Amino acid sequence: MLHIKDISFSYNGIRLVFDGVSINVKKGSVVGIVGPSGAGKSTLLKSVAGLITVDKGEIILDGTKIQSPQNKLVPGDDEVGFVNQSFELDDFYTCEENILRSLLHLSKEQRVVFCDQLIILLGLEEVRHLQGRHLSGGEQQRLSIAAALAKEPKILLLDEPFVHLDVHLRKKLGKYIRDLCEIRGMMILLVTHEGEEALSWSDEIYCMFNGKLTRKYAPQNAYSKPKSLKEGRFFGELNSVRIGKKQVLFRPTEFAFEGEGSNELSISFQYDEFRGFYTASYFKLENGREIVLYADASLNKISKIYVGI
Ligand code: ADP
Repeated sequence: MLHIKDISFSYNGIRLVFDGVSINVKKGSVVGIVGPSGAGKSTLLKSVAGLITVDKGEIILDGTKIQSPQNKLVPGDDEVGFVNQSFELDDFYTCEENILRSLLHLSKEQRVVFCDQLIILLGLEEVRHLQGRHLSGGEQQRLSIAAALAKEPKILLLDEPFVHLDVHLRKKLGKYIRDLCEIRGMMILLVTHEGEEALSWSDEIYCMFNGKLTRKYAPQNAYSKPKSLKEGRFFGELNSVRIGKKQVLFRPTEFAFEGEGSNELSISFQYDEFRGFYTASYFKLENGREIVLYADASLNKISKIYVGI
């Protein structure tokens, strides 16, 4: 289990990046942290990886405190795998060597088998003998995920790990990593500004703004019962209308064309966007605010809907 206990961090003791953060990650589970750029997410992960020293609080992994960099010869923790955008790979090692050097805890035979598995999983067959410096950004990203998995860490920290990956590889890798969580009890802490990615991955999701965790959600509730517009919008388009004194939040599919006893809204069509299996239609309300509705086809003939049923 990972316990992050009330940690705070500032650069040079002046610039407060995050404050009073507490999170628990259970064995075999994935915890997502979602928030805008600059919220402090990456810095938070660096503290869990033992790469920076927190000002306050402590981080305990399976009963052992994560050491800060000044207490270690080599900063970082062997039990922690960290994938971020700075791909700390050896430029002169080949792709395969970069993976193998993370497999020293295994026997020689096991190393070869596991290395092959990771190369195939991440689609690196064609570049396995190329040096790190000759790999594209996407290949480096996949290699850094492979190298992190090769360590067989207790916890894997993922900082926007899939930005360069196509949707098929995301799904395949997602399934593999989830399986590792279940089979080996590995923990994952994932940070992203793409809430939808967190929805499909996480068992629990925290929202983070300006260095503070604002709320914890089950993924279903982050989508269907957000407590604020600011949080809810991270997980997909969300409408906000004022009815009487009440603010009503609803997703673009949560409306009806008829409805007794529900809230009637007069809307005027603006434009639509075809998005494959649905079309998003944008409307203006009488007060000038915009809302969006999803349906099989454009709703350009609609001027009244019912919400909050
Ligand atoms: P996020 O991952 O949510 O985008 P970061 O953790 O990268 O946020 O950054 C949080 C804040 O810390 C930002 O305001 C950023 O400018 C600041 N910051 C990041 N790195 C440094 C640094 N080395 N020195 C000073 N401020 C930094």
